[in-house]
Amino acid sequence: MRTQRQVVDYSLQKRAVLRELLAGRVGTYDVCDASPYLKNAARFHGEPTDRRCPICRSENLTLVHYIYGDELKQSAGQARTLTELPVLAMTLREFQVFVVEVCLGCDWNHLVEQYLLGRDGLTGDSDGNGEQDVAAAEGVGRRRREAQR
Ligand SMILES: [Zn+2]
Repeated sequence: MRTQRQVVDYSLQKRAVLRELLAGRVGTYDVCDASPYLKNAARFHGEPTDRRCPICRSENLTLVHYIYGDELKQSAGQARTLTELPVLAMTLREFQVFVVEVCLGCDWNHLVEQYLLGRDGLTGDSDGNGEQDVAAAEGVGRRRREAQR
């Protein structure tokens, strides 16, 4: 998504949890604890993937996108489908997205990544011409790198 920024990737943390599990330092009951709310969100707003659950290996993972931010008011903390996000990103200035992977088979769940979306991510004046804005921003970055050499 064009306005996506400040991406935080949690795959290292996830691998650490899986390592702990393999080593027997945590049990599956510790990590397979998806709440009924999370599972409902996965069923109704989730994004199916073709990646197998790392725990039970019998179901594919579903990604749930939770949105947070002052501008969302009562919608803050709700799950949204992936297709709804670009629309929100063009209407709101800034909001936070948390992506959680869930297995509906064994209740495994883990935070995958978080990032910001919203019009604040668009550079330049908001005349709606995003391509030019992006090109301009890249040009500035290039000039800055060259200046540092
Ligand atoms: Zn599973």
